[in-house]
Amino acid sequence: MNLYYEVGDQQVGPIGKSELQSLVKAKKLNAKTMVWQEGMESWEELGVFVRNWQGKEVQKDDQADPAPTSVCSECGQAFADEDMIRFQDSWVCAECKPMFVQKVKEGVSVTGVMDYAGFWIRTAAFVIDLFIIGIVNLVIFVPLGMLMPTSPDSPMALLSFMPVLMLLQYGIPAAYDTWFVGKYGATPGKMACKLKISVTDGSRLSYLRALGRHFAKYLSGMILAIGYIMAAFDDQKRTLHDRVCETRVVRS
Ligand SMILES: [Zn+2]
Repeated sequence: MNLYYEVGDQQVGPIGKSELQSLVKAKKLNAKTMVWQEGMESWEELGVFVRNWQGKEVQKDDQADPAPTSVCSECGQAFADEDMIRFQDSWVCAECKPMFVQKVKEGVSVTGVMDYAGFWIRTAAFVIDLFIIGIVNLVIFVPLGMLMPTSPDSPMALLSFMPVLMLLQYGIPAAYDTWFVGKYGATPGKMACKLKISVTDGSRLSYLRALGRHFAKYLSGMILAIGYIMAAFDDQKRTLHDRVCETRVVRS
């Protein structure tokens, strides 16, 4: 293999297979690096290249359908996708997985993808969400208020409205968080600030975890919102509800 690769505007090479592996290992190259070798029509991403190249090797051996393969971002070797885990833009092989997961847990930046969002940007996202929920409340509660019986001779009718109001008051923010975080990994406020919430291993939150995280925020809100302020002092910028739910907020 005589491979060329691109760094910025520069084309470097040719390099052999072992050099390629050590460059990937050293994080100089990744699956998105553009590569080319003689005989290829155009440059392609390393991830795609390795996949095709391995496919040809396999076909030469036994004519079987090539299993899709990817390069492990830790050791630089290629493995079948089914034997690897995917972590955001990186693939990790079974052998490197325990070490890799440990690194993620300890908050070590893995290939630079865990860019934890700080206290102020999160506050900005929070304010935007607050504003949106405020508008939603306005749209729902104002007409509701007009429907509400006001005559003093029907206190029971007024009382019967209370559970509905309570349900809406807690239900609207809960539904907002659960739906957006479960579906898109971020609330509109976080999307606007280019933030997203993920589980410790980098995966998206399930709806259930998103719901749990919403109610865990009540914990963070207690005692002068100390659980929110914790994010300003935590090495992984975690709030109390991030700790409880094993989530992180990262720049997307
Ligand atoms: Zn590996």
